[in-house]
Amino acid sequence: MSLPEYEIYAIRYATRNAKRADHFIGGDPHDAPMPMDYFTWVVRNKDRIVAVDTGFTAEVAAPRKRTFLRCPVETMAKLGVTPEQVEDVVITHMHYDHVGNFHKFPRARFHLQEKEMHFCCGHYVRYPRFGHSMEVEDVVGMVRLNYKGRVEMHLGDAEVAPGITLHFTGGHTAGLQVVRVHTRRGWVVLASDAAHYYEHIRSNRLFVAAFHLGDMIDAYRKVEKLADSPDHIIPGHDPLVMRQYPPASPELEGVIVRLDETPRAVA
Ligand SMILES: [Zn+2]
Repeated sequence: MSLPEYEIYAIRYATRNAKRADHFIGGDPHDAPMPMDYFTWVVRNKDRIVAVDTGFTAEVAAPRKRTFLRCPVETMAKLGVTPEQVEDVVITHMHYDHVGNFHKFPRARFHLQEKEMHFCCGHYVRYPRFGHSMEVEDVVGMVRLNYKGRVEMHLGDAEVAPGITLHFTGGHTAGLQVVRVHTRRGWVVLASDAAHYYEHIRSNRLFVAAFHLGDMIDAYRKVEKLADSPDHIIPGHDPLVMRQYPPASPELEGVIVRLDETPRAVA
């Protein structure tokens, strides 16, 4: 039997203004803007819907001064998807912008790396360098879900379903994982925060929020190996994603793009 193919959608739910120097360890000589977009992803075919990350809420956006555009979970309705239909949610890592809204999926099992749970419950998060990007209510919420038997804690690479696999990288956080999806254009990798922008992975420069720098570099090579080509790698926060991929439908321009289509060249 051949491997199933999936559609992949990126939902842009928030944004913020920033400068180049904000995004690179060691800063950047160019004093130019480099805005950041926030995404969640939906992977689906006729048999299955898998959500990848769940974004943050308007309540969390306000104190962190993020521009909240739309609830990522409600926006799934534009794809005809309700949260009740989602049986599997992949959490790439426990940062606030990837795991908020988890409580809006009443039936789902949550897939994350056990190392990430250790990390967000362990001694490092007492230091703002590591704890600042976590919301304690998200962490406690995931602990509660685990006691209800709804968390699959993976010890390294794992399969969610045929054609959808999880790959541990660490680096940005201690237990970050990326998602590899089989599509009609081949293997696409949702790199999440293993590569915030294309520029990080292409120039081997490192994002400022880091747990282990060596593991971050190794994650670039791992992501490249997993993807069929550099055009099959989807960075976690790059506004270019919205320009390179076609909208899911004309009225969803700037809101939802389709990642199983071939990207167009953007100047
Ligand atoms: Zn992150």
